[in-house]
Amino acid sequence: MKSYNQDRQKEGKPMFPPITYNVLYTAIVVLTAKDVASNDVVKDWVSSGAPLNAAPIQALGGPGLLVAYALFQLLFSFGAGQSAPFRLAVTKLGVTEPPFSSPLNDETRDGAYFCSSCGAKLFDSAAKYDSGSGWPSFWRTAGGGVEYRREALGGRMEIKCSNCGSHLGHVFSDGPAVAPVDDPVPATDPGGPEAAFVLNDPTVRPRFCVNGAALKFEEAESGSGRPELNG
Ligand SMILES: [Zn+2]
Repeated sequence: MKSYNQDRQKEGKPMFPPITYNVLYTAIVVLTAKDVASNDVVKDWVSSGAPLNAAPIQALGGPGLLVAYALFQLLFSFGAGQSAPFRLAVTKLGVTEPPFSSPLNDETRDGAYFCSSCGAKLFDSAAKYDSGSGWPSFWRTAGGGVEYRREALGGRMEIKCSNCGSHLGHVFSDGPAVAPVDDPVPATDPGGPEAAFVLNDPTVRPRFCVNGAALKFEEAESGSGRPELNG
């Protein structure tokens, strides 16, 4: 795995330490939770015994949503991203996990990456690299088992597991510039002969930016070839 962090630093691109995000989300919770707690509707609800079936979710509005979102992001950072509800939020609802939250971002062992929902093989360690983005990054798929869909909002290219339709992440036109000569790109990958679309910059490899929660890693030569699916 080649490190591109150094390249980014040389180019003067900003590098935020992972803790930055946790500090930010904690600040959001602390600052906004006060607003939520001082809401009259919330006070009435608490003084009536805070029955769960009468929680004033709609009355909380923006601040309530913000606290919920920040708590969700913080939980991810503390490892909850590997548990089933968070995996489902990513793969079925298209939620993006916070950067640097997945242990797979730092995974450097030889092996393969499988869809966490259906077990289809999607990527392998030979095409993994450190993009500096905070998400597991690959410059090609393992065999083209990925579907592409242009998002109406923002125009990003979403990638999904072509076997089960799970949301994986996005593919961008700013991958590594140098193509390894003895490791050809699958035909349907961006840059391949049967690709459904062309990259903005044909001189670089694509960057598959994948949520770690959408993947399961299995180290090479560890036996069965497929990961145990429990999430
Ligand atoms: Zn799948």
